[in-house]
Amino acid sequence: MVPIMGYIGRFAPSPTGPLHFGSLVAALASYLDAKANNGKWLVRIEDIDETRCDPIFTTDILRTLQAFGLQWDGEVEIQSKRKNLYDVALQNLRANRSIYACVCSRKEIADSALFGLEGPVYPGTCCHAGNAEAGNAIRVRTSNACISFMDHVQGRIEQRIQS
Ligand SMILES: [Zn+2]
Repeated sequence: MVPIMGYIGRFAPSPTGPLHFGSLVAALASYLDAKANNGKWLVRIEDIDETRCDPIFTTDILRTLQAFGLQWDGEVEIQSKRKNLYDVALQNLRANRSIYACVCSRKEIADSALFGLEGPVYPGTCCHAGNAEAGNAIRVRTSNACISFMDHVQGRIEQRIQS
């Protein structure tokens, strides 16, 4: 395999408990992939769910990674400390009219979903409804343009996300 220039791998555990074996295997796989490509391996702590996450587990997870020789590059990113960046990104999406508020319940979406190649597809019911954002789900306005990328294992992946 030819190494990829500028390769960046990452591991993003949620600190809801100690690192379990499956997550350790995932961390090892992404670490080895990054190193095989002469890339960087980053760690981002997904602590957005404040009711389930505990900083004690962040410390525990990082110690476990180090105990197995999985040393990350750079600083560990802590998601909860990056909320201002998400607010800015959301403001930009809002300014570009790239998002909209959706008032559909999960049941309504399940009942009205279109069935695409990969499963149910939200039909865009609220796309032009002009719903208020407060208290509602925020969705990204999409097009049916073809999106493609090269996956190491699966090869070229190509999909139109509205079908
Ligand atoms: Zn909706």
